[in-house]
Amino acid sequence: MIKQKKIPMRQCIGCREMHPKKELMRVVKSKDGEIAVDSVGKLPGRGAYICRGEACLAKAQKTKAIERAFETTISPEVYELLRAALSEVDDGE
Ligand SMILES: [Zn+2]
Repeated sequence: MIKQKKIPMRQCIGCREMHPKKELMRVVKSKDGEIAVDSVGKLPGRGAYICRGEACLAKAQKTKAIERAFETTISPEVYELLRAALSEVDDGE
């Protein structure tokens, strides 16, 4: 029997679909309440995952999914930062 490595799955807060963790972007809220894209996957703080695309970010913005995930309000400027970060990291590796 071939032992298959289990792929960690996470739910995108935009489309609410499960995706392999490494295909998603991690967004974190730091201790001081700052929202940032965790490009290394190691930032401390509460995290949420989102697909690497503007469509899911737009959805998350519309449904306020990120705000609910982090229990905070997110300014349009932060969404702009997230959008810029998401469009930067398309294929990654
Ligand atoms: Zn998604």
